[in-house]
Amino acid sequence: LQTRRSLSVRGRKGLRLHDNPSLLRAIEGAERLHAVFCLDPWFIRPEAVGVNRLSFLLESLADLHSSLQARGSALLVLRGKPEEELPRVWQEWGVTRLCFEVDTEEYARTRDLRVCELAAQAGVDVSTCVSHTLYNVEQVAARNGGSPPLTYKAFEAVLAKLGPPPLPVADPPARLPPGVAGSEVIGYGVPTLAELGYPLQATTVFKGGESVALARLADQLSDKGWVAAFEKPKGDPSAFIKPATTVLSPHLKFGTLSCRLFYARLQQILLEKKQHTKPPVSLVGQLFWREFFYCAAALTPNFHRMEGSPICRQIPWDDNEEFYRAWDEARTGYPWIDAIMMQLRTQGWMHHLARHCVACFLTRGDLYVSWERGRDTFDRLLIDGDPSINSANWLWLSASAFFHQFHRVYSPITFGKKYDPHGKYIRHFLPVLKDMPDKYIYEPWTAPPAVQAAAKCIVGTDYPRPIVDHAAVSRANMVRMKDAYAAGRVASAKAVIAGAKRAP
Ligand code: FAD
Repeated sequence: LQTRRSLSVRGRKGLRLHDNPSLLRAIEGAERLHAVFCLDPWFIRPEAVGVNRLSFLLESLADLHSSLQARGSALLVLRGKPEEELPRVWQEWGVTRLCFEVDTEEYARTRDLRVCELAAQAGVDVSTCVSHTLYNVEQVAARNGGSPPLTYKAFEAVLAKLGPPPLPVADPPARLPPGVAGSEVIGYGVPTLAELGYPLQATTVFKGGESVALARLADQLSDKGWVAAFEKPKGDPSAFIKPATTVLSPHLKFGTLSCRLFYARLQQILLEKKQHTKPPVSLVGQLFWREFFYCAAALTPNFHRMEGSPICRQIPWDDNEEFYRAWDEARTGYPWIDAIMMQLRTQGWMHHLARHCVACFLTRGDLYVSWERGRDTFDRLLIDGDPSINSANWLWLSASAFFHQFHRVYSPITFGKKYDPHGKYIRHFLPVLKDMPDKYIYEPWTAPPAVQAAAKCIVGTDYPRPIVDHAAVSRANMVRMKDAYAAGRVASAKAVIAGAKRAP
């Protein structure tokens, strides 16, 4: 009898035991199981992934290793390119089957295709499962006539045809097949940040791991009234001690929480509660936004860039390095904007509306810098940084795709004030302004010199002056956006006429 040895690859996601169909597939008839995670050098670079997200990942790996150990198995962490590391170990360990979760991201698709080719050459069976999303994005597109739905309404119409998403699968058995043992395991442990070339420690308050995710899910959903009444975009973006939303996003990103489990638990609550909010504003609606954007990103060419994208408005953004740097480094001189950017830097998470404000400010609102630059900053610093969701929301906020009301701009002064008139959020994330009186906390440059001196914060010395005059630039930018939209219409009309002339 041939020994069946399965390799269950966790990639960057699916870092859990619950609702893990790939793991169940891997143990079917297997005498040995090697659960591996491959630390791909493409991601492990400080310029690509900030310390907070990497730390969240390492915590998640350590937690998964403990859970696997409790079941007689272990997590083996490979370090190197998957297309080199996996062939090495499947040869060394005599692996006959490779199981992993479908990843729809651009980089992952190319990587996985290459790994599958190598597996085929080596005679290793490959088995993949959809479990990072509620639905198979290809099936969503197929039910939409072959292309991804590009409005939430159209997406909901497809979901109505598809029916509810699959339920979570059963937990794995209490004992898993053994993997490599003894000296063979040495060198495959979860590395430290320092070992990966990250000299600093994480500063985020949010911790990674399936155990944390399940505890947070239970805690968030324990208040059933809150779940039933959840309504986004209502909620206080300045609440940082107890955030106004679930903060399950980094767990959904790394798959320490299954979106199907989250969905199923929500449905149980909504069945009990007669009155509840509905998509797009409810919590189920939030999971549908995630799904909607995954589908659009996976199946739209050049989704992550303006050039060549069939859905992105072509806008001649300014190439203003100084503006970009000031925004990125939280020194625009607008305390509400800078405080949000400081929360990003220290915690790697901000409320959805806070993200709206800084994204609008960088792009069409104030600085007129390309959404791709802001997206890259978020991608580096967010603990939930997720290519599809991130690009999609930047496309939205910059009025480049999905949303086109460019005249609706967030004020960097009055918007935050509505929620937090005393500026507690600003004082926490920008301690230099902690003694500024309430009256000036959102506009410190308007404080008389004596007030600035008493607050030990001289604007221009201790805290920057505003980088632009919001009222003036936002008006001018609306005209520029209008012109860019009009130029886009002319360009596509010309393309249609040119196409018609070429037609036989
Ligand atoms: P909740 O409100 O509790 O929602 C539950 C889950 O629904 C979230 O965890 C998330 O998975 C999903 N969700 C909620 N809102 C959205 C949305 N607008 N789009 C897609 N999925 C959503 N979210 C990310 O997960 N990764 C990103 O890289 C990311 N980048 C963003 C960039 C910008 C410019 C903006 C405006 C938003 C971005 N978001 C991103 C979406 C959203 O802000 C976060 O998902 C949300 O704030 C996470 O907090 P939460 O888990 O408490 O959300």
